[in-house]
Amino acid sequence: MLANSLRSHPNAHLCFDAIIIGSGIGGLVSATQLAAKGAKVLVLESYTIPGGSSGYFEREGYHFDVGASMIFGFGTQGTTNLLTKALEAVEVKLETIADPVQIHYHLPKGIELKVHKNYEKFLQELGNIFPHERQGIRQFYDECWKVFNCLNSMELLSLEEPRYLARVFFQHPLACLGLVKYLPKNVGDIARRYIKDPELLQFIDIECYCWSVVPANLTPMINAGMVFSDRHYGGINYPKGGVGQIAQKLVAGLEKAGGEIQYKARVSKILLDGDRAIGVELASGKTYYAKRIISNATRWDTFEKLLPADEMPAAERKWQQRYQKSPSFLSLHLGVQADVLPIGTECHHIVLEDWQNMADPEGTLFVSIPTLLDSDLAPAGYHIVHAFTPSWVDDWQALSSSEYEQKKEAAAGRVIERLEKIFPGLDAGLDYMEVGTPRTHRRFLNRNDGTYGPIPKRRLRGLLGMPFNRTAISGLYCVGDSTFPGQGLNAVAFSGFACAHRVAVDLGL
Ligand SMILES: Cc1cc2nc3c(=O)[nH]c(=O)nc-3n(C[C@H](O)[C@H](O)[C@H](O)COP(=O)(O)OP(=O)(O)OC[C@H]3O[C@@H](n4cnc5c(N)ncnc54)[C@H](O)[C@@H]3O)c2cc1C
Repeated sequence: MLANSLRSHPNAHLCFDAIIIGSGIGGLVSATQLAAKGAKVLVLESYTIPGGSSGYFEREGYHFDVGASMIFGFGTQGTTNLLTKALEAVEVKLETIADPVQIHYHLPKGIELKVHKNYEKFLQELGNIFPHERQGIRQFYDECWKVFNCLNSMELLSLEEPRYLARVFFQHPLACLGLVKYLPKNVGDIARRYIKDPELLQFIDIECYCWSVVPANLTPMINAGMVFSDRHYGGINYPKGGVGQIAQKLVAGLEKAGGEIQYKARVSKILLDGDRAIGVELASGKTYYAKRIISNATRWDTFEKLLPADEMPAAERKWQQRYQKSPSFLSLHLGVQADVLPIGTECHHIVLEDWQNMADPEGTLFVSIPTLLDSDLAPAGYHIVHAFTPSWVDDWQALSSSEYEQKKEAAAGRVIERLEKIFPGLDAGLDYMEVGTPRTHRRFLNRNDGTYGPIPKRRLRGLLGMPFNRTAISGLYCVGDSTFPGQGLNAVAFSGFACAHRVAVDLGL
């Protein structure tokens, strides 16, 4: 029926197997996987380069990552190294630089702690701060390993594909049962089973918050199992040449496999034939048709902007009742004189002065200094410091341009004051500064309200409420951080593998 309606369409010659709206890592992994399976694929990206939140920009000799820079998924063994696998699938290579420490925490009451790649060294250091909880600490993190070991023993594809589920269950019954047990669980439940010290529980909260942007009692155990273990297994690895290289290499692989990408191609509408998605219309008015449409835009953008909001399917309304937009970020992209950073400074830092402020706007401060791993990203003698902290778009609306600039300057001043505490002399050593607000994220990352992604509105049963890739509209799929298993480059790569797998089965590839 659909094939007939497309075949008779006047633009049938522009028909693809799959159109992917957006070239974030989720979209690109889907696209490359499908192209590698022989599908005719078109990626439409509204910006001038690929990558979305894992893109980059250049200013005065500095090569800044727009967002992500603590990268999981580049390990060399197991099954959870999904970025490595995605690049290999389209025969492209990317050099990475191993980071020996995931995070250097600077916490209330002067707590200084490094999460070393070496698991025992990390447990030792944390145990030195909470000696009365040594056993609970080990029991908690060991339980995270149980989740990880289950995930890391099986091929990670679509949980919406019954034959794959049956095969995986047959091959790894114990691992599957293990995962089913953890799927409805949140980290807080498990942590409280082993840990009693309220301050240590606050530390577990920030361990979750720094990637899930919610405390432990709202963070699914499946995601924590990945993050808290893979950092000691595959480790954190920075792509040589900057995070933007991941998307660039995936695009090279996509084109090598016969796929196509267009930039400055903003999709304004998903075209329906009855209740089925059959194509897209660009802001330019141009239309393209495909057997399957995959949206890498957020679910809010997909169902409120690319489709009529007043006809939103019931399943999406239900999802919106369970999940809300997390805040966006205030980002400072700084160039600083190299001698500002003491010898032995780590690449990634988290700064929090008061536990009560962890989830507040400008509460937790995230700092990345990627030039400590790849010095080519800045002029000789200088480093990049990317400092970002949660901020809501509503606080940046309805301002005149001078009010907006003043507000940016004041906010940047507050962040620099906090940075001065860990890097004295930073202010005097500043060479370059660019400030991004939630409005910047909304505009350049093309994300509703500039949000980092969906977070539970209330306590949910682990990851059970997170939608997979199929949607209530036939022929339309979603990929990226508003699908299972959520935010982060390796997580959206998982979503990309799963989406491509489901679409390939539906296309009969
Ligand atoms: C400041 C910051 C720091 C972060 N730090 C880390 C980190 O250290 N480690 C980590 O793993 N993750 C980190 N993340 C999260 C991670 O970057 C994201 O979860 C991930 O990149 C999201 O990928 P995605 O595939 O969902 O799509 P996105 O990156 O959101 O990309 C979607 C793409 O679709 C395009 N698009 C949207 N709508 C349209 C349309 N209508 N037409 C055409 N194109 C469209 C957009 O332009 C964009 O290129 C960070 C994010 C931010 C913002």
